[in-house]
Amino acid sequence: MNPLELSFEFFPPKTPDGVEKLRATRAQLAPLKPKFVSVTFGAGGSTQRGTLDTVVDMAKEGLAAAPHLSCIGSSKESLRAILNEYRSHGIRHIVALRGDLPSGMGEVGEFRYASELVSFIRAEFGDWFWIEVAGYPEYHPQARSPRHDLENFARKVKAGANSAITQYFFNADAYFRFVDDARKLGVDVPIVPGIMPITNFSQLMRFSEMCGAEVPRWVARRLESYGDDREAIRAFGLDVVTDLCQRLIDARAPGLHFYTLNNAAATKGICDRLNA
Ligand code: FAD
Repeated sequence: MNPLELSFEFFPPKTPDGVEKLRATRAQLAPLKPKFVSVTFGAGGSTQRGTLDTVVDMAKEGLAAAPHLSCIGSSKESLRAILNEYRSHGIRHIVALRGDLPSGMGEVGEFRYASELVSFIRAEFGDWFWIEVAGYPEYHPQARSPRHDLENFARKVKAGANSAITQYFFNADAYFRFVDDARKLGVDVPIVPGIMPITNFSQLMRFSEMCGAEVPRWVARRLESYGDDREAIRAFGLDVVTDLCQRLIDARAPGLHFYTLNNAAATKGICDRLNA
């Protein structure tokens, strides 16, 4: 039996076609028996309804579904209402985030950091929710310093998180060091590596630039050299990300959380190769 725990992240579809496509993606990934599936959330209200609808849809299929919830730009009252709605649907798992304000939206709201959201959820809902928080092996792009970022991560966990999921990375050593450093600060919850399958060079570079994840030069150069040859990009991406996952598994990472981007093929390809 393989004890590796998998989880899959999706975003809320915006069109009826997208809803159907996501159902098909879930059906393709279901045989991998994920521990849970999660659904992202747009700060400032863009996809809030979509997150709820998608999570409820998934829960009806019997999947353990976890909505992401970001607090920046929100009031206590609105977050309380969303959390109450999740509770009324029997949802017990939340990914608690600060989020990023969409450009042009200046109001920070009543919460500045994810640690404040975690404290709020614990104060208002006790132990009803299993709370995940985000971790950054290559550090959050706005962090004052790596040390400060680690201390903030530890603070967030101590505020009441049960588990953490990392930003994606392609350098396993960054993750190993991050986990070691977090342990030294007293963080004892599982820190699950976030995995980004590689299928599209320009999209990967754009995302990585935004979230502060490093694409190693040799990976970027190889991907770039394939130009429009999507098959070659996928094949190389599959090799690179499967090797990364294998290193993480060998080092006893507590699970793998896949950023699926609502596509089953790349995630399934990696899991099949890993025999997960
Ligand atoms: P925080 O933990 O609050 O950290 C943000 C920054 O503030 C860091 O630089 C930190 O060092 C600093 N900081 C924290 N506490 C303090 C303090 N007390 N004093 C000074 N500085 C402090 N975004 C979305 O909009 N929707 C999503 O669904 C979503 N899902 C995500 C899932 C995962 C697994 C990950 C890794 C990220 C996700 N994001 C999502 C992106 C995330 O919202 C951004 O990275 C955001 O910029 C930071 O969120 P956080 O919860 O990590 O923030």
